[in-house]
Amino acid sequence: MEDLSARLAAVDERIADAAHAAGRDPSEVTRIVVTKFHPASLVTELYGLGVRDVGENRQQEFSRKAVEVGDLDGLRWHFIGQAQTNKARAVRAAASVVHSLDRTRLADALHAAAQPGDPVLDVLLQANLTDDPGRGGVAPAEIEALAAHAAGLPSLRVRGVMAVAPLGEPPAAAFERLRGLADTVRGVVPDATWISAGMTGDFAEAIAAGATHLRIGSAITGPRPERG
Ligand SMILES: *Cc1c(COP(=O)(O)O)cnc(C)c1O
Repeated sequence: MEDLSARLAAVDERIADAAHAAGRDPSEVTRIVVTKFHPASLVTELYGLGVRDVGENRQQEFSRKAVEVGDLDGLRWHFIGQAQTNKARAVRAAASVVHSLDRTRLADALHAAAQPGDPVLDVLLQANLTDDPGRGGVAPAEIEALAAHAAGLPSLRVRGVMAVAPLGEPPAAAFERLRGLADTVRGVVPDATWISAGMTGDFAEAIAAGATHLRIGSAITGPRPERG
């Protein structure tokens, strides 16, 4: 617990330093702690340390953990993994924000999964910054059409873009491309100002490229337990 608190504080200090170096106000940047593969108790501990944004990338683990953690006032769950359309209701039921909207069918499924009284779901359009179409994310050439489609679904609110920096390329270059895609999306949805980018190894570069939401796991949680 003390270690967790020290790692959290150290990461927050590095975030503040990177923001200042980029001429930005650290309060513009939301730090999401990625808790995948860790037990629900870690989320509760983090909450006790003031963390209000946590991220999960596997739907089943996410749904289970959200139930186990229960209602914690102000806690926001960010879903950052590949979502199957037939799990849209489960994702929608537990997530405050879905970072991984990458196709029109998934947008339609998330919209159709809304139940009366559900709040509008914040979504980010995940861009594929690699040349490999098998990776998650919409191809950059198609992000504008996806934005227009999602913006037409009243139970979704397009907030911006998300990406993972590809291996084998300096992250700064990839994040600059993402910044350009964010501009494209804002041409369709003017208030879609969020940019979700930056993980343990590259969050300073992401902040320099305008990231508003960082998804940081191991630097805060420590090494992930073996996946089951
Ligand atoms: C696991 C994960 C992260 C966090 O990774 P770390 O390197 O541990 O910070 C961020 N984004 C996504 C999509 C992830 O799956």
